[in-house]
Amino acid sequence: MEKIASFQIDHLHLEPGVYVSRVDSWNGVDVTTFDLRLTAPNQEPPMDSAAMHALEHLGATFLRNDPSWKDRVVYFGPMGCRTGFYLLLFGSFESKDVIGLVTSLFEFAESFEGDIPGARPEECGNWHDSDLMQARWWARRYLAGTLRGIDERHLSYPHAF
Ligand SMILES: [Zn+2]
Repeated sequence: MEKIASFQIDHLHLEPGVYVSRVDSWNGVDVTTFDLRLTAPNQEPPMDSAAMHALEHLGATFLRNDPSWKDRVVYFGPMGCRTGFYLLLFGSFESKDVIGLVTSLFEFAESFEGDIPGARPEECGNWHDSDLMQARWWARRYLAGTLRGIDERHLSYPHAF
């Protein structure tokens, strides 16, 4: 089988950033997949699943309530390697188009207090696997280290090998 596009990114030189993974089109509808990379693959520790799970619930809740973007949200969820998240939006976009949205999402997560939305046993398949303090730590790190003052090098993938 053919190697899919996301396996052709050079994961040895990938730094935290906001990247366009792909733009798919079908029947005149575009969908952009963003790679929200929080930690450098194979160089820094990945996130714990409990931190990612909390960020997934907070991120999905935030995105689906954002007045200007909610109708464009297709999906937000974790990468299996636990180094980042995928965000899928209807439309064809560049990374710089969503920096404001992504920054607001992680500011929401960084300052969140109280019960994580949708994290009760009747609402989620593994409700106790959720760590708000770690989620807030990763959100703070992504904001301070990557999102605020992001430069061109962290908005598009390093050249493929
Ligand atoms: Zn869940």
